[in-house]
Amino acid sequence: MLNRSAKQGVVIFLLAFCFTLAVSAYNISDKDVSIDFDTAIYTGRAICPEVNVRHLTEGKNYFVTYTNNVNAGRAVIMVDDVNDSCPTVYRYFDILPCNISNAEIKLSYTEATFSGKSKKPSVTVTFNGKVLKEGRDYTVSYKNNKKSGKAQVIVKGKGNFCGEAVKYFYIRPEKVKSLKVKKKTSGTVTLTWSRVTGATEYRVYRYVNGKWKLAGSTEKTQFTVKKLSSDKEYKFRVRAVCKLKSKKLYGRYSKVLRVRTRLSGNDKIYISPKGNKYHRKNCSYIKTNKKKVTYSYAKSKGYTACSRCFD
Ligand SMILES: [Zn+2]
Repeated sequence: MLNRSAKQGVVIFLLAFCFTLAVSAYNISDKDVSIDFDTAIYTGRAICPEVNVRHLTEGKNYFVTYTNNVNAGRAVIMVDDVNDSCPTVYRYFDILPCNISNAEIKLSYTEATFSGKSKKPSVTVTFNGKVLKEGRDYTVSYKNNKKSGKAQVIVKGKGNFCGEAVKYFYIRPEKVKSLKVKKKTSGTVTLTWSRVTGATEYRVYRYVNGKWKLAGSTEKTQFTVKKLSSDKEYKFRVRAVCKLKSKKLYGRYSKVLRVRTRLSGNDKIYISPKGNKYHRKNCSYIKTNKKKVTYSYAKSKGYTACSRCFD
């Protein structure tokens, strides 16, 4: 027979045994563990699928640890019982790269003037408030950026990013150069200039009553301005245009070219009986004894232009 204290000892032992059994009932069985998703897309922040263990409560019976759960790749979830009395249960989920088109892409400029070299605006890519790093998160390439028109910046995802995004920018044509007079008459002026790469059209402007007005446009590098008055000075300038479907890109204006039209037969000029030149009214070569005649008369008599008053 056991004495009283021995009996108490047995009871305590049995109680302890039952308690241990009760605790071991918290043991986490692999088949009872579930997670609420097993694939996710990269967000730049830690991703934590919710873990469920049948019949048990997180914090009270078990705790969950996540690793490798920010970057694209396989993330690990470890489920351990609070007493650390059974093996860790592992679960995995995949973080997939995010399409780069979800990022905000900004170019340092969206319009520029062609300068003979390829144009390359710099690119800033921001995702969820963070500035991404070229080379690590994306690569940049350019297309159609060596002439005027619509150019492309292609941003290709890398690492945590996939896919590609395209941004556009515009290159205006170069300034028109070498604007010259090819031919002039008493009523017309024919202008020429150098070809501008990428230009689809040229616009010729004439200065009229204090304002620049469009005189006409051409696809060629030559244009004749008509209906001008004889012996009058005109000012012209030209700019290149690159016409796109949705937009027109204008180059800078050429320098201003001043041209005086030729005399017409009825224009009045001045001759002196002794000389063989014809002059304008105020020419210092013929202050006295001048005679007003028509240009056609002077020409018929063999008079030629005075170099001081005619260019
Ligand atoms: Zn003169």
